[in-house]
Amino acid sequence: LSRKSIKEATEQRFRTSENSGWGTFPPQSLCDETRDFPVQLNDGTHRTLGALYDLTPKDLISMVMLEEKVFDTWYSGRTVLLGDACHKIHPGGGQGVVTALHDAIALANLLYALPSSTNEEVTQVFEEYREERHPIVTQTYRSAQMIRKMTDRGIDGALTLFLATNMPSWLWRIVLASTLKARPQVGFLPEIKNRGTVVPIASPSFLKAKAVYDFEGSLHTAAPV
Ligand SMILES: Cc1cc2nc3c(=O)[nH]c(=O)nc-3n(C[C@H](O)[C@H](O)[C@H](O)COP(=O)(O)OP(=O)(O)OC[C@H]3O[C@@H](n4cnc5c(N)ncnc54)[C@H](O)[C@@H]3O)c2cc1C
Repeated sequence: LSRKSIKEATEQRFRTSENSGWGTFPPQSLCDETRDFPVQLNDGTHRTLGALYDLTPKDLISMVMLEEKVFDTWYSGRTVLLGDACHKIHPGGGQGVVTALHDAIALANLLYALPSSTNEEVTQVFEEYREERHPIVTQTYRSAQMIRKMTDRGIDGALTLFLATNMPSWLWRIVLASTLKARPQVGFLPEIKNRGTVVPIASPSFLKAKAVYDFEGSLHTAAPV
């Protein structure tokens, strides 16, 4: 057995072990440790984590591995990945779902504009999709890591929390705007008026789909009645 496979086997045993606290076994010690942690609910009421644990059926409480990674490979042959399958972003940033949706929009734009479905064309489109989304997702991943750092115990966490809570609001707006403007728009549907305060940049996938959409629209307009 190689060192790698021994390590993998050990980790797998750890995950499925009844004593590990991972998986579907109620991690009682973790619940006990965090019972008094204060939380504010959506309706503004203040509770503790313990109160939420008590309201939750025991068999629904489990501890999961929180993975964080942006993978390099996003496609192979005619198979392509999106969302958590190719990037796991720390949930503290609250960006996992929207990032997956933006992947879907970018990919749908490019597939809409796909001239033919030969393997070469498909590979080309998957590469364009990856080129558009990978840098944006990596930036989101790093921002989420910063937010995660705020909850770290020790001097690093305290320092990050201090900087984040004392950062001037104008600087926060610049940081947020740089993330928000990188949201791809759907190019193959009628355009809707932008209602947000941050205008999205026209992504390559959007421009590609929109060119085909406008061209097809012009054919319909020009067709004799
Ligand atoms: C604790 C926690 C809190 C989070 N909080 C937030 C938050 O506040 N805001 C936010 O934006 N994001 C949050 N996230 C991240 C968010 O949940 C994910 O980024 C998002 O769900 C990714 O969507 P997805 O469709 O890519 O993958 P998933 O939601 O994982 O969907 C994949 C689906 O595929 C199914 N599946 C897997 N294998 C197979 C198979 N072989 N055959 C058929 N189906 C299969 C799975 O059952 C699953 O339903 C959180 C994540 C965690 C773990």
